Amino acid sequence: MTRTKTLASGRQYLAIPGPSVIPDAVLQAMHRPAPNIYAGELVDMTHSVVRDLRRVARTSQHVAIYIANGHGAWEAALSNVIAPGDCVLVPATGRFAHGWADQCRGLGAEAELIDFGRAGTYDLARVGEALKGDTAHRFKAVLVTHVDTSSSVRNDIAAMRALLDEVGHPALLMVDCIASLGCDVFEMDAWGVDVMVSACQKGLMVPPGVAFVWFSDKAAEARAKMPLVSRYWDWAPRANPTEYYQHFGGTAPTHHIFGLRAALDLILAEGIEQVWARHAHLARAVWAACEAWGQQGPFRLNIADPALRSHAVTAARVGAPQGTALRDWVAGQIGLTLGIGLGMAAPDDPAWHGFFRLGHMGHVNGQMIMGMLGGIEAGMSAVGIAHGKGALEAAATVLSEG
Ligand SMILES: *Cc1c(COP(=O)(O)O)cnc(C)c1O
Repeated sequence: MTRTKTLASGRQYLAIPGPSVIPDAVLQAMHRPAPNIYAGELVDMTHSVVRDLRRVARTSQHVAIYIANGHGAWEAALSNVIAPGDCVLVPATGRFAHGWADQCRGLGAEAELIDFGRAGTYDLARVGEALKGDTAHRFKAVLVTHVDTSSSVRNDIAAMRALLDEVGHPALLMVDCIASLGCDVFEMDAWGVDVMVSACQKGLMVPPGVAFVWFSDKAAEARAKMPLVSRYWDWAPRANPTEYYQHFGGTAPTHHIFGLRAALDLILAEGIEQVWARHAHLARAVWAACEAWGQQGPFRLNIADPALRSHAVTAARVGAPQGTALRDWVAGQIGLTLGIGLGMAAPDDPAWHGFFRLGHMGHVNGQMIMGMLGGIEAGMSAVGIAHGKGALEAAATVLSEG
């Protein structure tokens, strides 16, 4: 039997935009026998987790935990404030807004979507027109995605709040931070966000399985006025339980709580501002390499304006079928898994193979980023994608800057 030569043995690097790299401290915290779910360590730990979840979201208001992925958090949030027949406004800057809007429709609500394409942020003037035109205040909420993980655009949430205030529209501001929490600067209270959803497997570095909904006092009032709320999704007993099991609507996600505690410890030991600064600095190194590659040949970043780019995920294209060839090569030859392109072309469209994404969220540091970039450079040479020179030097220069 002949074996194909490969350089892939060694620690694998999953550089996709979620789930992200799991820190050893998180894995070790989860590797333990089943705990009592009625008293003791787990119960105390849950209180500290709730406190620290507020801290990372920069809020002194409320948080509810769900055994769910991000899609579950979307539905949980909607179920508490959007009733059948209600209407929401959805400015879309990529694929995820469409998914959340579609969930509204599945719950019998109306979602008015303004599509701003897949390569930039929303036009606030157009959103403002829609809000001003809604003199009857039919829009009960505006649903926005902080970072759209398919396009890798980062939207300005504080500007959306300012727009709502300027127009004087009472809609709730609901934000999807699934790809940005613990990566990009986010200030729930300072930015006037009413509802924020996230999940544990991206910036929070825990295997998929728990998701969160933070909500403001104003959103709690909206919840209180709902004709009915699904018992399971109801955030009120979860955020303010009288019995421990109500935190989770049933059995606690025991090992996820241990893992989450370890992850929050890592974040708080580093400091949330420093976590944001690390992501921003590493992202600049990624962009520097990508811009150098793009000097010659087909490599392009999806978001042209650096001010609009996510610090946690980067969407790029090299043209079909080379994107898939590159991903296959780095996975097979050097142990690096890159993300597929999402929402840029249908999976049965040959153009789908031209897109890919780099995940640089959570437990990543400078040497991992250099390894990822070096692997991509080797892959482009190996599969024959023309590219500009000096990318690794450009990235290293960015890392060397204070
Ligand atoms: C990952 C992601 C989701 C979906 O989360 P799942 O855990 O896959 O359900 C939704 N929105 C954004 C912005 C995401 O990055």
